[in-house]
Amino acid sequence: MTASVMIPRMERQDKRLVDQLRPISFETGIAPNATASVLVTFGRTKVICAVTIEEDVPRWMKVQRVEGGWLTAEYSMLPYSTLDRKRRDITAGKLDGRSSEIQRLIGRSLRAAVDLGKIGQRTIWVDCDVLQADGGTRTASITGASVALAIAVNKLVAEGKLAESPMKRLVSAVSVGILEGEALLDLCYVEDKDAEVDMNLVMTDQGEFVEVQGSGEEAVFTADQMNRMLELGRKGLEEIAELQRQVIAEEDRPSAGALEGLS
Ligand code: UDP
Repeated sequence: MTASVMIPRMERQDKRLVDQLRPISFETGIAPNATASVLVTFGRTKVICAVTIEEDVPRWMKVQRVEGGWLTAEYSMLPYSTLDRKRRDITAGKLDGRSSEIQRLIGRSLRAAVDLGKIGQRTIWVDCDVLQADGGTRTASITGASVALAIAVNKLVAEGKLAESPMKRLVSAVSVGILEGEALLDLCYVEDKDAEVDMNLVMTDQGEFVEVQGSGEEAVFTADQMNRMLELGRKGLEEIAELQRQVIAEEDRPSAGALEGLS
């Protein structure tokens, strides 16, 4: 005879299961002057991710005669993106510490996705502007910018400016955390602000880690909790990568169709 024990599960404010992502969407082409752009939505978190490819490299690369190109990222929370109006994150020409840390993370993550040696003497500018913040703005930025980056470089390939795709892999990001002792996937703000542990995972679509940022907020966490968070994160990131692939493939379709029409 077997006995089953019901383990009480935390009720999340938005009724999600502990391993359930918020609804995710990608709206492409929202900033037509950028090479590629995506409005990425994770529930109420919305970020405009724009990629602009410039036919030049930073001065330091020319001085040091570094081959290839460069990728740089900027992140900003718009003043009206939070519940209480937020002051601009650049004041007196200085970027606040949080935004500075986040834009470095976005840059590092995307440089893991593209082979800069294969983009020629170009600079890839990645701009992530948070329209609405409800937790996970950095992970939504990385996920959306990764899609915009793939679409932008595919355009260069389609235009014959690049002989081959410089994309090495797709990167995706999601947050995980521990709230009231329970591991949760993709925290929204009300969960994030009370979480004992807050972790951001950046991974490739081949299941490798790009970066892990995790800290206990005045708390410690065990290896078991860490493994549980990684398990939830991996599951979420597989779903996210699938959505990213679909959007990128959808964007490529018209040009593929045009080429078929020529044959
Ligand atoms: N937040 C805010 N004002 C700020 C910074 C953060 O309202 O100046 C909120 C916002 O909802 C954000 C959340 O707190 O998404 C969590 O912020 P965190 O610094 O952990 O970064 P994120 O989870 O957005 O990457």
